[in-house]
Amino acid sequence: MKLCRFGEGRLGLVEGTVVRDVTAALEVLPAYRYPLPGFDPMIANLDKVVARARAIAAEAPAQPVSSVSLLSPVANPGKIACAPLNYQKHVDEVRSDAQIHHNQAATMAPIQTAGLFLKATSALVGPGQGIALRKLDRRNDHEVELAVVIGKTANNVRASEGYEYVAGYAIGLDITIRGPEERSLRKSSDSYAVVGPWLVTADEVPDPANLNLRIAVNGEERQNSNTKYLILGVPELIAFASSFYTLYPGDIIITGTPEGVSPIQPGDVISAYIERIGTMDVTVRAA
Ligand code: MN
Repeated sequence: MKLCRFGEGRLGLVEGTVVRDVTAALEVLPAYRYPLPGFDPMIANLDKVVARARAIAAEAPAQPVSSVSLLSPVANPGKIACAPLNYQKHVDEVRSDAQIHHNQAATMAPIQTAGLFLKATSALVGPGQGIALRKLDRRNDHEVELAVVIGKTANNVRASEGYEYVAGYAIGLDITIRGPEERSLRKSSDSYAVVGPWLVTADEVPDPANLNLRIAVNGEERQNSNTKYLILGVPELIAFASSFYTLYPGDIIITGTPEGVSPIQPGDVISAYIERIGTMDVTVRAA
């Protein structure tokens, strides 16, 4: 199932080029009162939401998916964990390009040494909201990545069991200001975490370790790779992350970008694709 969020908090079921408004399926969610949970309520109750969405889909109003403004399919992730250097050819390009590594080449270690970083949840947007670039005097880059949405609480999970904790997948754009500061600062500006265009439930992605992914800017291809080149794959990332902290339903892991990162400017249109997920177009503007 492909579940999207659109408009003013609507929930949609995507079928081909059409989206059905199944917002009423959210009525299965428990009523939460302050203090709100630190996990995403829809993802924590995804089985119930999906069952209700299926039940009401035939009667639900439909419209072209191209006519709606898509939000992040996860509204309230507790955290966005990111893999910094998780494709060898990207490690190589970072180490060889001073405009990317900013005199930190020696510390640009592969993921097993570098570990993960966090993007602020306030950076999260959907493709319909676009990217608002800051620090226009510096280089801002696109990074296309497979995004994994955690489906159930995961703590000290073994890699051999990692896939059991996945709710589904989406495309993630890890937009990045290049420079000397900590990654979490340079990659956490508002709108610098684009997730979408929808959540594809894990049952529709039989082999997440073999997905083509690519990105074009203004129609010109910049990155084109496959998740088979991930240094740490999806289950290994879940094991690694959950050895440091508990992962909760709705937490997002952005798995790292392949080679080909390059600058973006206000006015650009980005088109990102991942096999079995789809394509999302995102416009870039000045903040
Ligand atoms: Mn990245």
